[in-house]
Amino acid sequence: MFIHSVKINKSYILFAFIVIIILITLIIASILYPISLPANSSSLIWENTINETTSEKKNYIKWVDFSATYEVLEKTSKYDIDSHNKDSKVKYNWIELLSYLACKYGGNFKKFNQNDLTKLINQLNNGTTMEDLSKDLKNYSYYYEAFDAVLHEFIGEYEVEIPNAGTDEKTYVKKYGVKAFLPIAKKYSFSHYDDFGNSRSYGYKRVHLGNDLMGSIGTPIIAVESGIVEALGWNQYGGWRIGIRSFDKKRYYYYAHLRKDHPYVKDLEEGQVVKAGDVIGYLGMTGYSTKENVNNINVPHLHFGMQLIFDEVQKDGTNQIWIDVYQIIEFLRKNKSEVMKDNTENKDYIRKYDIIDPCIME
Ligand SMILES: [Zn+2]
Repeated sequence: MFIHSVKINKSYILFAFIVIIILITLIIASILYPISLPANSSSLIWENTINETTSEKKNYIKWVDFSATYEVLEKTSKYDIDSHNKDSKVKYNWIELLSYLACKYGGNFKKFNQNDLTKLINQLNNGTTMEDLSKDLKNYSYYYEAFDAVLHEFIGEYEVEIPNAGTDEKTYVKKYGVKAFLPIAKKYSFSHYDDFGNSRSYGYKRVHLGNDLMGSIGTPIIAVESGIVEALGWNQYGGWRIGIRSFDKKRYYYYAHLRKDHPYVKDLEEGQVVKAGDVIGYLGMTGYSTKENVNNINVPHLHFGMQLIFDEVQKDGTNQIWIDVYQIIEFLRKNKSEVMKDNTENKDYIRKYDIIDPCIME
């Protein structure tokens, strides 16, 4: 009995000794490991740490799932625009209406019921303010900030040039309404379906972060919103592409697969201001090639994407927010930019009717 217990103690001591040796080895290895990483990797870790620290400090929106349907956009925008044009006592803001409804539906607009919107409008008409109605809705400010980031410049005041027969003078009229344009010029047809999130296999496995608008090669492509050209040139995936950033920096519009040989209107360059409704380029089938100016897409189409940026760290890298723009494209069918050939040898198209967009500081 006595001898037996001594034996057990001895094997326990041996076992404990081995465990301690293993632990010490692991600790030493974990201390040494980062030092043995190449310089690049350790600087990446450092940068990521910095990014994470700043991300923690700043409280910005990390994700948006924009599910507002064409029907809801249409109805809320009509309330907004009509109340301003008829100078009604109560003026509605479609972004507020959408945010209120989103709270009711948990962000899922498939649950939209006209009675909810009618009831909301009646409450506003009876003198209840949106501030009162939203004060107990805990996600209201999130939805408002998210939807405002998407739709900030879609409705508002602007001036539009009207035909003035017989004179060279331009006459502008003040309007309030939709001032974002369909990316396809007026009188050019296109087809599309909700292809957001579909899988793509060229290069690496990834999902489709935009909407493909199928049309004819050469169809003039229109700037949806005014902004600054941030990216221009060849991209392995997008081919000839244009990236335009809104003035409030929150939206990045991506127009890709533009026409071979003549993708952009003459003189378009990075840093340039473009106006909503301007012709910026032409539909084509370039892309999916590391070599420039190559048609490697089967069906001519415009790839149109919209990225939201609440903090600059979200612009590139792994934390990008791209939204499904299918319903937005449907909504924008109501505002198309009419184009004509310019009378120069560039063979370019230009917009027929100019606008004055107050968001451009001139
Ligand atoms: Zn696409």
